[in-house]
Amino acid sequence: MRILVQKFGGSSVADLECMKKVRAKVLAACEEGYKVVVVLSARYGQTNSLLERAYQWSDEPDPAELDVLLTTGEQESVALFTMLLHDAGIKARSFLGFQIPIITDDSHGNARIDTISADKLREAFETYDVLVIAGFQGRTPDMRLTTLGRGGSDTSAVAVAAALGGDTICDIYTDVNGVYTTDPRMCKEAHKIDRISYDEMLELASMGAKVLQIRSVEFAEKYNVPVRVRSTFTDDPGTLVTKEDLMMESVLVSGIAFDKDQARVTLCDVQDRPGSAASIFSPLGKAGIVVDMIIQTASRNGVTDIAFTVSRKDLNRALDVLKNAGPECSHIESASNIAKVSIVGVGMRNHSGAASQVFDALYKAGINLIMISTSEVKISCLVAESDLEMAVNVLHKEFKL
Ligand code: ADP
Ligand code: ASP
Ligand code: MG
Repeated sequence: MRILVQKFGGSSVADLECMKKVRAKVLAACEEGYKVVVVLSARYGQTNSLLERAYQWSDEPDPAELDVLLTTGEQESVALFTMLLHDAGIKARSFLGFQIPIITDDSHGNARIDTISADKLREAFETYDVLVIAGFQGRTPDMRLTTLGRGGSDTSAVAVAAALGGDTICDIYTDVNGVYTTDPRMCKEAHKIDRISYDEMLELASMGAKVLQIRSVEFAEKYNVPVRVRSTFTDDPGTLVTKEDLMMESVLVSGIAFDKDQARVTLCDVQDRPGSAASIFSPLGKAGIVVDMIIQTASRNGVTDIAFTVSRKDLNRALDVLKNAGPECSHIESASNIAKVSIVGVGMRNHSGAASQVFDALYKAGINLIMISTSEVKISCLVAESDLEMAVNVLHKEFKL
């Protein structure tokens, strides 16, 4: 039995017309002789509107009940789509996450998948040709519903492909032709990449390219699932996300990502002594606030400034935590009109000079760098949000993408 996993995102299942295009993709796979697992997102905008409604009803919705509400978005999609398959004479049934089951931990809103059993799916293929699975959802061992974080249907799809094993390919269908050198909505020159390594895709996703959820790429790499990113609305072969090969290393920079969800906190005149940094970051860690970039300036007269970035939604909470538990400092500043731009490429491992090229290009464009951080395969710069679009376009040109 040859099985193909096809995942369709929110814009692909937005309305009846879109769902008919999805059905055509599924029928084409059936005609090629595949048994097909279809993983669906909620219809476009549905998860956001459910979230909005929850916050109209309650100032602080209970995370477990919020998950019960959000999972209805994907439930609607799979029911409607399965009906559409029946109308075309296809033997199909839907599965919600808990029916498979997809077992997760209990971090409501951002749960991690612990196990997936493929037994029920294999058994169902004795009766059905297409199984339609609700993405983004699972359940805890004690039967509470969970969701996997925004964009989580990508992870559902890759995880189901991994559970099915045997070289099952996972096609992620979306509203662009594949993975581009940068978000095509931000840069007109962006073009599609034919093949990209798991590591590069992971960095691009981590740095803000939401075309794939980060965890889906982690899963794909761990279980060696070949992932193809393609468009529901064209016949383009898309982008293959796969193991690194020698050809990929010859390219210095393969993509540019950006993230507007950045806010900066600066603690000014912190006493420069052992334990100061710990007294900032331990209480933030305990409060579950994820810190991204960190900079400590050189010590002057026994004091130093320590700045870091967090997600915008965590800014006020971070400021509260530090007011109550932070270190001695003269004052705390914050800003949220900033954004992060990153260049990513496995080729940077073996080539020097990429950083100076970035700084030089941004300097020539008159863009000020607020913070910088690097890893083996990426360089990130924090800039004013008003400079972001120019920064992306300048770097895209500089690295001849
Ligand atoms: P879906 O609803 O299908 O999951 P998403 O909106 O989550 O779709 O992801 C697709 C979007 O990701 C594209 O419309 C595009 O604007 C954005 N995107 C960001 N960076 C990239 C990139 N490097 N390549 C392709 N798309 C990107
Ligand atoms: N519906 C969820 C979201 O909007 C999951 C997904 O689309 O992947 O984030
Ligand atoms: Mg998505």
